[in-house]
Amino acid sequence: MSARRAWTGIALASATLWLAACGGGPSGPPSSAECLASLDRTDMVYSQAKVEARSSSCVIDTPVRVTKTAMSWKPAGTVACGFALRLDTFLRDTAEPLAREHFGSSIRTMREFGTYSCKRMPSGRWSEHASGRAIDVGGFELENGTYISVEKDWHGGGAKRAFLHDLARAACRDFSVVLTPDADHDHYNHIHIDAGRYKKCGMKSAKSPDPRLETEARVADAE
Ligand SMILES: [Zn+2]
Repeated sequence: MSARRAWTGIALASATLWLAACGGGPSGPPSSAECLASLDRTDMVYSQAKVEARSSSCVIDTPVRVTKTAMSWKPAGTVACGFALRLDTFLRDTAEPLAREHFGSSIRTMREFGTYSCKRMPSGRWSEHASGRAIDVGGFELENGTYISVEKDWHGGGAKRAFLHDLARAACRDFSVVLTPDADHDHYNHIHIDAGRYKKCGMKSAKSPDPRLETEARVADAE
């Protein structure tokens, strides 16, 4: 089924935001149009988004506002097209099967606590949120009514804790930086997942897949 694409207001002033490629690939990055065509081949519900960048460091590569991937996003979030594709794959092929494994239920809604944001980290470096390559996941609501909260259940017990830890461990495999409530107090209520250039798996029960890539002493998010 093709994705439903609702076109939002597109200003000529933001035209440059649409021209850059949206992600890497074996034969070079696909064009913006190719990336959007890839989104259309999924079940994702999204609209092309307009982003008013306050800084040249806050430009998103082909911004899209995502309402639904394998599950609804609450609220909708704005990310780069290429990151949306990676999230779609992760949520459909990893998060959804983990929910079925641990709870015997599908995920109805993902609670997201943050996507695009033009902000710096405490170190002064721009956050991956500033380029639309990061998401903060606060929890999941299942079809059977169960709610899994990162804040309440990360340090809890049972299936909810196991689900969240399995999810974060898998995200460490598939993405660049993953920061959980184990990482620092800033992440007490969400799991930060990004597709930036650094590598860090911020959870106690897992080490970074390749510590050699952890080139900076501290990779922390601003939230
Ligand atoms: Zn974050």
